[in-house]
Amino acid sequence: MSNSSLHVHDVCKRFSSHTAVDRVSFDLNPGERVALLGHNGAGKTTLFKIILGFLKRDGGEVSVLGAAPGSNAARLGSAYLPESVAFPAALTGEEVLKFYARLKGRKPAEALPLLERVGLAEAARRRVGTYSKGMRQRLGLAQALIGRPRLVLLDEPTTGLDPISRQNVYELIGEVAEQGATVLLSSHALTELEARTDRVLILSKGKLVADDVLSRLRAQAGLPIKLKVWAKPETLAEVSDRLGGGRMNGRSVEIDCRTDDKVKTLSAISALGNLVEDVDVHAPSLDDIYRHFSNAANREA
Ligand code: ATP
Repeated sequence: MSNSSLHVHDVCKRFSSHTAVDRVSFDLNPGERVALLGHNGAGKTTLFKIILGFLKRDGGEVSVLGAAPGSNAARLGSAYLPESVAFPAALTGEEVLKFYARLKGRKPAEALPLLERVGLAEAARRRVGTYSKGMRQRLGLAQALIGRPRLVLLDEPTTGLDPISRQNVYELIGEVAEQGATVLLSSHALTELEARTDRVLILSKGKLVADDVLSRLRAQAGLPIKLKVWAKPETLAEVSDRLGGGRMNGRSVEIDCRTDDKVKTLSAISALGNLVEDVDVHAPSLDDIYRHFSNAANREA
């Protein structure tokens, strides 16, 4: 715990009789990119607000860079990008960043290199009112990165962005983490997180139901790999028979196999020679894994 950027232990938060965060514990380390996943109302924003010191917890411990949430030390070392960022439309991007730099006690001159870093150098002197949603989001990220924070909290940073802008956001997150900062981001966009996070936390109804690197969560979930075997319509039934059955789907047969049986099943497919035209292998996606852990938690509840 001593070196962790964020220490959360047994944290609870109740709103009247409703428990929004229920005995949540985890530690995040420098350089980690961590996704916080959960359905609507799972408690993600409440947890962020507790970490930021905006909300008081009802129990448990939180330490942000070794300091109390909301303390000066915690605020100086951490940054937050809320889900919807709003900046004064009449100010230019540069003016906005200089304003935030002053608020954080930094030199306004820090603003310009950051605008360049998020790809807004050319638009720096344009009014924010003329920015697209993606540009405003990038400005929000630049704002969050003022002063090289060591803990960066991003609430749904890619909502409403097009694929290229999403990619840019993740590249930036990668760079920030490479420089040693811890990035905790909440998201609903599971598939795009697969290659871009080191660790996944899953909240379900306020409880932390999973916390691990994706490969281990995948193994723990034990979900089947899906193989789609393409063949000519006239040989499809034979292919299906010889592979022990499966869902036939016009030009393909779909079979589920356990991770341990993948190589064996692929050898059986390859033994079919010319009968097979192609094979697609689908490992369980983050969506599948997320659903597995949420459902398992619901069943237990
Ligand atoms: P979303 O993905 O929709 O943003 P979330 O995971 O961020 O959801 P929270 O906003 O943390 O979820 O809400 C968790 C639960 O706590 C919800 O049931 C919500 O209605 C409740 N809640 C949050 N803030 C308050 C509040 N100030 N007063 C009463 N209930 C609240």
